[in-house]
Amino acid sequence: MSGKIASIDPGSPAARARIHVGETLLSINGKTIKDVLDYRFYAYDPALTLVLRGPDGAERTVHIRKEEGEDIGLNFETYLMDEERCCSNHCLFCFVDQMPPNMRDSLYFKDDDARLSFLMGNYTTLTNLSEREAQRIIDLRISPINISVHATDPKLRSILLGNKAAARGLEYMQAFAQNGIVMNCQIVVCPGLNDGEQLSRTMHDLAEMGVASCAIVPVGVTKYRKGLYKMPVVDERTANDILDRVLPFSEECFARFGTRLFFCSDEIFIKAKRPLPEEEYYEGYVQLENGVGMLRSMEMEFMSALRQLEPDTPCRPFAIGTGCLAAPFIRELVDKAKERCPAVQGTVYAVVNHYFGETIDVAGLVTATDLMTQLKGQPLGERLLLPANMLRHGGDIFLDDYRVSDVERALGVPVRIAETDGFSLVDAIFELEY
Ligand code: SF4
Repeated sequence: MSGKIASIDPGSPAARARIHVGETLLSINGKTIKDVLDYRFYAYDPALTLVLRGPDGAERTVHIRKEEGEDIGLNFETYLMDEERCCSNHCLFCFVDQMPPNMRDSLYFKDDDARLSFLMGNYTTLTNLSEREAQRIIDLRISPINISVHATDPKLRSILLGNKAAARGLEYMQAFAQNGIVMNCQIVVCPGLNDGEQLSRTMHDLAEMGVASCAIVPVGVTKYRKGLYKMPVVDERTANDILDRVLPFSEECFARFGTRLFFCSDEIFIKAKRPLPEEEYYEGYVQLENGVGMLRSMEMEFMSALRQLEPDTPCRPFAIGTGCLAAPFIRELVDKAKERCPAVQGTVYAVVNHYFGETIDVAGLVTATDLMTQLKGQPLGERLLLPANMLRHGGDIFLDDYRVSDVERALGVPVRIAETDGFSLVDAIFELEY
């Protein structure tokens, strides 16, 4: 555990109480602080007594008065105040195992840390959670938690996760449900394993358990699976079978619970060659981070932004690079933009993913290598628009470590990065700055 204080927010209760950088937080109101979850929970109260240890080993007590729920203002050397926990599974579908070689080390890290689920929304399998830690989640009422379930048949879950302890995670889920912990779930469908009757069983069990929502997404299969389980992709037939099971059951759930609970990702509708559901279906986009309703939400935003433009709004010629999955959809949006504003001249390129393998068709896994080789020599107009999810979060580096400037140099056009919402796409197309 590292509760060593790295910085203190100026003007915060901790700064006013003259806590020092370099001291270590040991306890709050008599409770030992083991990690950031303890810190967040026990620092909630308005009257706090902190025990700190200085660099010389001497301990001292500090009293703080603040608003209930106000952050004390301490930042620690490590975000979790503890080692990030790596996963103890060997999932048959693990994406990390099927990554190309020689990518940056951080991309090969397998995290499965329940604490990151609460703090960052990561999905966790609960397989490396001890009973004491599960009890702490209940005691501290830490909620919601995002859980990768995949199957509720204990044996099947163990096979899918490559972990004999996988069944224990299901027991934790029961305990969480009984204690009011909100659970958002995810099922990665692996054809021949957890689809068909097993998918129906999993949905039934989760509905009875009382989870809050569950996304159903297809397994991603790259060309780097040598020595791994021979995983089929979700094809049109499987995608239709998934929808035939999920849609009627989710309507039953809607009648019973007032929510559909189970939502298929956009990818499944597209693979099944079915139209995407209307906006109401997504119930406020509760599973957006799993790619559920992303395209519909983007279209709604795009159309709303478009309606605010005058028909004579100028627009310089442009190209858009995206994954094969979203390309037809983005083309439709560009056509709608042209209907509204005739100056629009844009070409949408579906970039085939040779880097990971052609079955990977999402924009977020398109690399600079594929962009540069496939768009070289193509008419790109005066600028190239790319979605922000092709880049490392908050940076300008692609998955294969090239920078945006490398792509600009290779293709001879300026690149503009657009966030993945419809408003940002309209801003990027019409070069509107807000
Ligand atoms: S939990 Fe499974 S899918 Fe996630 S990193 Fe671990 S092995 Fe990979």
